[in-house]
Amino acid sequence: QSVKLIAGNWKMNGSAASLAEIEAMKADAAMSPWQAEVVVFPPAPLIDRVSRAVGTAPIGVGAQDCRAEASGAFTGCVSAEILHDAGARWVILGHSERRHGLRETDAVVAAKVEGALRAGLHPIVCVGETLEQRDAGQAEAVVAAQVTASLPEALSGRDFTLAYEPVWAIGSGRTPTTEEIARMHAVIADAVAARLGEAAVARILYGGSVNPTNAPDILATPGVDGALVGGASLKAEDFLAIIRAV
Ligand code: 13P
Repeated sequence: QSVKLIAGNWKMNGSAASLAEIEAMKADAAMSPWQAEVVVFPPAPLIDRVSRAVGTAPIGVGAQDCRAEASGAFTGCVSAEILHDAGARWVILGHSERRHGLRETDAVVAAKVEGALRAGLHPIVCVGETLEQRDAGQAEAVVAAQVTASLPEALSGRDFTLAYEPVWAIGSGRTPTTEEIARMHAVIADAVAARLGEAAVARILYGGSVNPTNAPDILATPGVDGALVGGASLKAEDFLAIIRAV
């Protein structure tokens, strides 16, 4: 049983004022140790300041995306190396808001995972079905196929993380039942083993409308190694309640 991971994806939210949330988290961690590993994912321009604010507190810092290449003529893009240099040690890849909003394919996600490993960033690879796919009875096949095609061979023997985020559960206030989550996490674990071998060690997070109220049940669900939290990660009070639910 690995330590559970609570990840806060700030998405396109936050400013210098958000450093107060980091201070509140540090104060809480100093009061009594957390049972979970905790990582925050601010917008890229805040990574440096958030990393400095974190200091030696037990809070990891990551980015929400990266470009696959290390450097070059890619105006507006940021590489895993640049993010690492700014203080990031983690990166979210293949989030549905990029897969669907920006047409990012499995192949692009796999290339970005290789870039992350090259730069020393721990990847969190997101997968998840749309409501249309779920209603058509394709959810498990879609998610298994995303896992297979989004994980490069380079992950063999490496420590990495997946996040199951049903697209229809993101920001909607709706979640699958804990039985549905458990079943999908088992499907994902099987797909990882088929792709990278039985020795692959991936933590599998659940993401999509996780809040302080539903977190205890979700985090106690078999096969759930943590949560990827969006909206409820923006206020320290809510995020801390989720961390304390572990
Ligand atoms: P919400 O927690 O706001 O539903 O977002 C989930 C998510 O997309 C995290 O990456």
